[in-house]
Amino acid sequence: MNEHPTLANDLHEEMVQWRHNFHQHPELGFAEHRTSAKVAELLRSFGVEVHQGVGGTGVVGVLKRGSSPRAIGLRADMDALTITEENTFAHKSKHQGRMHACGHDGHTTMLLGAAKVLANTDDFDGTVVMIFQPAEEHGRGALAMIDDGLFERFPIDAVYGIHNMPSLATGSIAVRPGPIMACEDNFDITIFGKGGHAALPHLSIDPIVIASEIVLALQSIVSRTLNPVDNAVLSITDFAIESTRNVIPEKVTLRGDTRAFTSDVQTQIEAKIGRLVSGICAAHGATHEFSYSREFAATINSEKEAGIAAEVARELIGDSKVNVACMPVMASEDFGYMLQRKPGCYLFLGNGGDGPGGCGLHNPRYDFNDDILSTGAAFWVRLIQSQLNV
Ligand SMILES: [Zn+2]
Ligand SMILES: [Zn+2]
Repeated sequence: MNEHPTLANDLHEEMVQWRHNFHQHPELGFAEHRTSAKVAELLRSFGVEVHQGVGGTGVVGVLKRGSSPRAIGLRADMDALTITEENTFAHKSKHQGRMHACGHDGHTTMLLGAAKVLANTDDFDGTVVMIFQPAEEHGRGALAMIDDGLFERFPIDAVYGIHNMPSLATGSIAVRPGPIMACEDNFDITIFGKGGHAALPHLSIDPIVIASEIVLALQSIVSRTLNPVDNAVLSITDFAIESTRNVIPEKVTLRGDTRAFTSDVQTQIEAKIGRLVSGICAAHGATHEFSYSREFAATINSEKEAGIAAEVARELIGDSKVNVACMPVMASEDFGYMLQRKPGCYLFLGNGGDGPGGCGLHNPRYDFNDDILSTGAAFWVRLIQSQLNV
């Protein structure tokens, strides 16, 4: 274990300032104009080559040393959420209805901290591609950058990403080879019955009763029809009816969300929802519409790069603070699209465990823990020094 695990410690106060500034001015996906301008300005001030407007509001910083063709991509996300912050500290959001409740302000800051350290050294040989991604929350930003030629314009051998994790102890790291975050699919089902008087159900086809049967039946997909060793989640998240007290409505719309780790399971879930909905609607003489969309790819770490990340983390913070075989998480992350195209690794950095940093992501009282800024920045620096070693 290195005696100075927080290599970027001298930058700490500066990083806290940047982070608080981003936190006060959260911007939603593809509207990160102020944030990306500030990222670009800081990168330029460090001497990093800057490319703006990659995939909308994305920014790419390129730093080259020596003559090696090796290149490593480091990715941070920049967008915030439509949540009104309930914190009362001085750096709380200045914008009603917008909040950095997922810590992307911290992710952006950690990569900026690493950029500053790396720009002041020449102890690596190759190219560092710093990817500041827009619009992670709705799963569109990574693809927007990829479709804008990210990997053709800035060729890299591997790509890495970090997300803070409130449930983990401050500054600890968790990683695993293989699937680490699930894919996300969404679906809509509209059941068309026959509206009528609440007192005359025999003259109607009640879509509420049919929809209720469907909600329960869909719960059997994961529990009764998928192989139990395949992980999946199916949640109905909306049951929408336009009606009034004494009316049987014409239609009900159900919306839902599914998670899995493989495309085979996704395909099975889609087919099984369709079959149950058709069968139940037909049995009741109702008609329906069903649509199913794939929103996020699963985030699947390549074996070699997960091993590299684990080794760098152990060297940085010691074996006892690194879990190299963590449980995968059923939430989703659009970094998965980058990992479909490049080998790489996504890892978790503990935001607080039982402490104040333990407040859950997307909660109006969440805040990124400033104490881990240096650890995250130092991880990036060590990763580059180990992978682009002189
Ligand atoms: Zn989030
Ligand atoms: Zn996030």
